[in-house]
Amino acid sequence: MFSLLALLVPAGGIAYLGAVSYRDQKGAVAAQIDRQHGAAAAIVARIDHAIVEALDAADRAATAGQLSPALGPLPGLGRYWFWIDADGRMRVPRTTPVAAVAAMAAMAAAADPALDRPALDRPASPNGRPNGRIEDYVRELSRRQDRAARLRAAQRAEACRGACGPQLAEAKRAYLALVTFDDTGADALLGLARVTARLGDLPRVRALLDELDRRFADRSFPKSGTATERVPVRLVTALLRAEAAGDRRAAALLSVAEAVLANHYAIDPIVGLGIVQRIRGELATALPDHLPQLDLEVESMRSQARAAAGLADDKEEVARSATETWRGRPAAKQPSRTLIYRRRADGSVIGIAVDPAMLALAAGHDAQDEVARNARPIVLAAGAVAAPELRTIQGTQMPLGEGLPHLQLALVNPMSDPDPLDEVVRHRERSHIVFTSALALMLGVGLLAMIRGAARARELAQLKSDFVSTVSHELKTPLTSIRMFAEMLQQGVAQGDAEKMHRYHGVIVQESERLGLLIANLLDYAQIERGTRRYTPTSVELVQLGRHAVSTFEALAQPKAARNPIVITVSPSAMTADVEVDRDVVVGAVLNLLANAVKYGGADKPIEVAIDSDGATASISVRDHGPGIPASEQARIFKEFYRTPEAYRSNVEGTGLGLALVKRHIEALGGSVEVASTVGEGATFTIKLPTFREVTA
Ligand code: ADP
Repeated sequence: MFSLLALLVPAGGIAYLGAVSYRDQKGAVAAQIDRQHGAAAAIVARIDHAIVEALDAADRAATAGQLSPALGPLPGLGRYWFWIDADGRMRVPRTTPVAAVAAMAAMAAAADPALDRPALDRPASPNGRPNGRIEDYVRELSRRQDRAARLRAAQRAEACRGACGPQLAEAKRAYLALVTFDDTGADALLGLARVTARLGDLPRVRALLDELDRRFADRSFPKSGTATERVPVRLVTALLRAEAAGDRRAAALLSVAEAVLANHYAIDPIVGLGIVQRIRGELATALPDHLPQLDLEVESMRSQARAAAGLADDKEEVARSATETWRGRPAAKQPSRTLIYRRRADGSVIGIAVDPAMLALAAGHDAQDEVARNARPIVLAAGAVAAPELRTIQGTQMPLGEGLPHLQLALVNPMSDPDPLDEVVRHRERSHIVFTSALALMLGVGLLAMIRGAARARELAQLKSDFVSTVSHELKTPLTSIRMFAEMLQQGVAQGDAEKMHRYHGVIVQESERLGLLIANLLDYAQIERGTRRYTPTSVELVQLGRHAVSTFEALAQPKAARNPIVITVSPSAMTADVEVDRDVVVGAVLNLLANAVKYGGADKPIEVAIDSDGATASISVRDHGPGIPASEQARIFKEFYRTPEAYRSNVEGTGLGLALVKRHIEALGGSVEVASTVGEGATFTIKLPTFREVTA
């Protein structure tokens, strides 16, 4: 039963594994692909979310009104944001690191306290606005033209180089006459400040500049040589003030450069760049320590200028195609850059300029992205493939959404790392192999148990069939003799021959006893098997027991001619030993051993019976001088119905039941049976019994 289970369970297990594993494997692979696809879809959703957040942030910045340095670059995707206002003007915020600029401005201010001095107070200049009549307009126009001409004359006088005191004095006079007017005031004040500076009256220069600031803060001067690019008055005065700062000039100039870089003057980046570079040239020897930082700033401004210039090409298209929901398209100048933009409620357009790496980064990181070792998202142009050293993880390549049809996302990992799908298969294979080998092992064990069981069953069947034939033979032989001699007596064959009759009767009696003994043995065995054998132990003297067995055997044994001489030795310690046993059973056991000694020991060979005791254990051993028993057979001969091949070969009669009964009986009485034998020298069987009482003499 057990061996059958041991076979069926693992065999079933292997069959099950075989049947299900393929389906499971397919299932696991599909599940992994699903997981990979899900991770990529989640990343696309997060990028979408990041885009909306960046646009919202840009929107808020634009609503705040100015692309001022305070708004700075927005974080993440909003770093390069732009704004096309309702008038179609494109604005790009500064990308200069705000903290660095603030630190430098503070340093420059500390170097030049004059920068913070309050402006000098001057009476407000009269307003030259016309009063509305046509002749007034004409008059005003001619006055303005006249003033403009005088201003140009003053500027020409001022332009003189070298020692030109009279010209400067004339210029100063002319400027002074023009400062009060709204149209020429700013230029006249500026010219006056320049001339005063050349004349060396620095305090007066500062006063003039302060006035210029106060009256014309919202004006700007055309930059020399350009018609459209204008420089605000505040920047011009700041520059002149710095020029007039004496030994603090360098620090003051640096401070102005910083302010330009920080976009304090909200000027065109290109114009600002020109100014900063001019200042940088002047500072090269005065403040060399600050140049690297300044260069960094210039570089940042330059890139911003470039960004603005780059975006300029897209301005029309973006302004035209913007809708309320965001959309994206490659930038005209740099196709690797994507413009994402949407229309605001006021009609202006807000947008961000991003590149694929920024988009991939904007997704951030989530635990569920880790579908493979070192997996990371990349953004590619639609239709492009990842670099050859990267593996596109299956199921993760997907468009980046309706707004960005020209881009796609993929999750990749290095080719040197394993493919996650292979990993899944390999992992399953490993556990599969472990299960299968465990089951195969179980199957092996089960098979072994089955084979052993079958062998044992066959052995038993063989033994029983041997037993049946042996027993029938054993029964038949004495019966045949009995019947034959009885018939002979009946037919009167021995009529008158008293000696013959006596012999015939003797044979009949002896064979009947043999038959009786055999049947008694069989009944005994049946009782033991059923567990109904009962013993009646009594205290017996060991020596008496041994001698009784021997004499009984001698009395029962065959004719004197075939008798083997039996020698009994009794050790002194055995003389007083008693045992508590079922007497008849022990005598029967010794008789069995003696019968075997005669059967297998060879005719006429002496048999030695030794009775011994070591105090605790009493023993009766029977030794013959026959062929002996090989070591390999010594355990088996005590099994029921077992007979050695030698026994069959030598045609000795027997059932194979004798020794089995001896062993069972003696063990039931608390003793044991042992055999010692050397092939060719005979065998010694010893019955050992616990002594009942030890009487010392
Ligand atoms: P049986 O004698 O009826 O065959 P036993 O149980 O008495 O059965 O003995 C079992 C087997 O042990 C015998 O068949 C024989 O092969 C072997 N055997 C028993 N006694 C001896 C002995 N004294 N010498 C050699 N072989 C023996």
